[in-house]
Amino acid sequence: MSLEFVLASHNAKKVREFQRIIGERMPQAVVLPYDGPEPVENGVSFAENAFIKARTAAEHTGRIALADDSGIIVDVLGAAPGIFSARWAGQAAGDEANVRLLLDQLSDIRRPHRGAEFHCTIALVVPDSVMAGGHEFTAEGSWRGNLAYEPRGSHGFGYDPIFEPEGLEVTAAELAPVEKDARSHRARAFASLLPELERVAARLG
Ligand code: IMP
Repeated sequence: MSLEFVLASHNAKKVREFQRIIGERMPQAVVLPYDGPEPVENGVSFAENAFIKARTAAEHTGRIALADDSGIIVDVLGAAPGIFSARWAGQAAGDEANVRLLLDQLSDIRRPHRGAEFHCTIALVVPDSVMAGGHEFTAEGSWRGNLAYEPRGSHGFGYDPIFEPEGLEVTAAELAPVEKDARSHRARAFASLLPELERVAARLG
């Protein structure tokens, strides 16, 4: 059953990961890019922010929209950086500055106290114009690991170079893209969303 939806993200590397994951698990899906307005992400949870992005895209395009909100949760920092992961070192900070700040904050913390996990919440928004009454749904995925002492690897994005997935001795940035997709928080969230997407596709015929 085919399904067409917009992927509401302006992060090109994240979009590329999603396209690979969706292509692998739902090859019949038609994934459309979203270049409409970027909403203010002022939610206080991953789910709130994912819904803010997906609802904006669904309203703007009149199409089914998917959006994720994701980040890294470091054990010794409570839930931080969490929803602030993309701007941990400041509103305009890039990946490198965010990674450096996190490493500095944990400079005195040794194993086994460097535990962390990536989290991903995907929001699905089906507008009323596509399905009477509209429909909303969320799915989540997480990926446990430890923080390295220095960045390693050149794949992926964000905190990948300092995230050593549980059971592996490499960082997520040292994994080939297909290896990251086999275990990542984003792939797990999508796997858990898939049955719902298939139900929506079946209802729309
Ligand atoms: P968002 O685009 O507002 O959801 O911000 C997500 C931020 O969390 C990214 O900018 C990264 O800093 C971090 N992040 C989320 N997923 C990943 C991942 O798969 N690898 C590395 N960093 C990630």
